[in-house]
Amino acid sequence: MLELSNIDIKYLLGVGPKRAALLEKELNIKSADDLVHYFPYKYIDRSRTYTIQEINGSMLYVQLKGKIISYEMVGEGSSKRLVAFFTDGTGVIELVWFKGHKYIQEKYKIGVVYTLFGKPTLFGSKYNITHPEIDAVDDEIDKSAGLQAYYNTTEKMKSNFLNSKAIQKIMYNLFQKLSGSLTETLPAQVIKDAKCIYYNDALRNIHFPQSTSLLQKAQYRLKFEELFYLQLNLLRYSKLRQHKMGGFIFSKIGDYFNSFYTQKLPFELTGAQKRVLKEIRADVGSGKQMNRLLQGDVGSGKTLVGLMTMLMAVDNGFQSCLMAPTEILATQHYEGIKKLIEGLGLEIVLLTGSTKKKEREYIHKGLLDGTIHFVVGTHALIEDTVKFKNLGMVIIDEQHRFGVEQRSKLWRKNVRPPHVLVMTATPIPRTLAMTLYGDLDVSVIDELPPGRKPIQTIHQYDNKRASLYSGVRKQLELGRQVYIVYPLIEENEKLDYKDLQQGFENIKEIFPEYKVCMVHGKMKPAEKDTEMQRFVNHEAHIMVATTVIEVGVNVPNASVMIIESAERFGLSQLHQLRGRVGRGADQSFCILITSYKLSQDTRKRMEIMVRTNDGFEISEADLQLRGPGDMEGTQQSGIAFDLKIANLAKDGQILQLARDMASEIINKDPELQLPEHYILNKQLQKLFARRVDWSFIS
Ligand code: ADP
Ligand code: MG
Repeated sequence: MLELSNIDIKYLLGVGPKRAALLEKELNIKSADDLVHYFPYKYIDRSRTYTIQEINGSMLYVQLKGKIISYEMVGEGSSKRLVAFFTDGTGVIELVWFKGHKYIQEKYKIGVVYTLFGKPTLFGSKYNITHPEIDAVDDEIDKSAGLQAYYNTTEKMKSNFLNSKAIQKIMYNLFQKLSGSLTETLPAQVIKDAKCIYYNDALRNIHFPQSTSLLQKAQYRLKFEELFYLQLNLLRYSKLRQHKMGGFIFSKIGDYFNSFYTQKLPFELTGAQKRVLKEIRADVGSGKQMNRLLQGDVGSGKTLVGLMTMLMAVDNGFQSCLMAPTEILATQHYEGIKKLIEGLGLEIVLLTGSTKKKEREYIHKGLLDGTIHFVVGTHALIEDTVKFKNLGMVIIDEQHRFGVEQRSKLWRKNVRPPHVLVMTATPIPRTLAMTLYGDLDVSVIDELPPGRKPIQTIHQYDNKRASLYSGVRKQLELGRQVYIVYPLIEENEKLDYKDLQQGFENIKEIFPEYKVCMVHGKMKPAEKDTEMQRFVNHEAHIMVATTVIEVGVNVPNASVMIIESAERFGLSQLHQLRGRVGRGADQSFCILITSYKLSQDTRKRMEIMVRTNDGFEISEADLQLRGPGDMEGTQQSGIAFDLKIANLAKDGQILQLARDMASEIINKDPELQLPEHYILNKQLQKLFARRVDWSFIS
């Protein structure tokens, strides 16, 4: 049995100290073990050789066999290039290099038969191949290769001739050297249950596939293994935490909750809200610390569930805090909740970055002596100066904007971690949730309050404004209000503000009989508030804004959301914006305005928005289109997203299997002490020892 981690790559054939340093610096490859886990990003079938005569415009790649007849330098300056004339007897094709001229001419001799591989491009009436791959015909690797692996390399590596081909050669040399079998990394029972091939076979076939079918089996095994250990690691810690850290017990439903429910609640709870409250009630009564993710579409009534959870806490002598990502949202939560609990005799305060010193001191004192029951706020809540007498419940709204590290700070504000309820309106696809929050329990509000009509979404090109504005006018005449949102990104800030300003002026001109207000991030908070209030109080009929209105703002009378340059927004963001309307009983509309020329991806995004109002479907689609690395929130999530081979967007089924099997093992043997689990401990040690472990706190 061979241990790859004991092999220093410096001493591998084809590496040496310089390349070893480069591999470490560029790809973080330090050992042979790292090297074999550097997986190809694609495979190309090189089992067939074509003739020059056969080349046609539809070929992405072509493999030829022939000789170079002559070399020639052509062009001047930056277009200076080396051209070789290459023939296989059926015709002549030009090979072109823009760099490495001397090296090429020395390496590839005239008259010697080579195998050539590259992308044919039509240039005038002739095909040429730029920077082809050239190999000696008796190259050992090519004999074995039907499917040839391709590896990503960096610019720096390429300029040191450490390209995909070179990596493949190093890999080949390494596997030549490893004559025996590699030490297995999964227990026999797991291999059997998951129907995996052995580690040794998987690694060899991932780099040098013997057939398409073996390649697929290798990919499956390595994906499974990667996800399995990820889950095992998450579950192992959550089990330990449950074991070691008990939660506060809220044993009763008391007067505050009951008075609110019977006297204050302005409507009947939806079935989904009731169900979720029961789930929460079970958690906080269990003696375990609650860690629950509450997913529900915009407007589904999560905030109300949050509030009732806070009432459970106060009934049991605990304080609660509600944290929101922006000041506007925090303020709205504060005002909304304050109104709802009026007369119950509870003290609620608002703490944000702009809270004045005197008020701040008052809040600090009240939280410490327990006279304040609820605090609503922004990041300001996390600061160490904010101390509680007895914090028992933490509610985090729109969680994806909070990093895991920040969340962990809230945990430390009491002797035991308080219960945590994370609310999000950006539903996270199951696969992602499982990886991000392996141990969070998930509740879903999948039902909107009664009487809501689904929002009708329309995609329109920006040259059809006349009909658009006449539709808007109709809504205004019915007494409704309208949002118009412009994109705003930092890189393009100046231009974007110009667009916004211009849009504002245009709208005022087009609708002279209506009042228009404007809100954007550059305004002073007070100014922003005034404008926002004008819209909330229906003094203004149209609000022109940037995405500052994305979260939270609640104006049930607003029935039209117009999104300008919609192509510049991601799916989740579009869905969030759309959620600002459709909050009242009237039919609402969302109009996505784009230019006519759209990329395929953008067109798809618009189609999805038009087709569905379902946040889960949208977030799944977002995951498929963008990949998990780009999804909102994943960067700050603290979980390593450098999955080497598995793809969360595509490998949901494998992930589910991996999770089920990991869960079964952890339940049976929480500390992995059984002899057959020795290998699991060893692998976890190896894979996760170096990483910061966030799973403790998410
Ligand atoms: P979310 O936070 O999920 O976006 P909110 O809690 O802000 O949703 O609720 C959206 C609106 O629906 C609010 O005006 C709220 O008062 C109202 N609402 C919440 N629950 C119900 C219900 N069960 N019946 C009727 N209206 C509700
Ligand atoms: Mg909300």
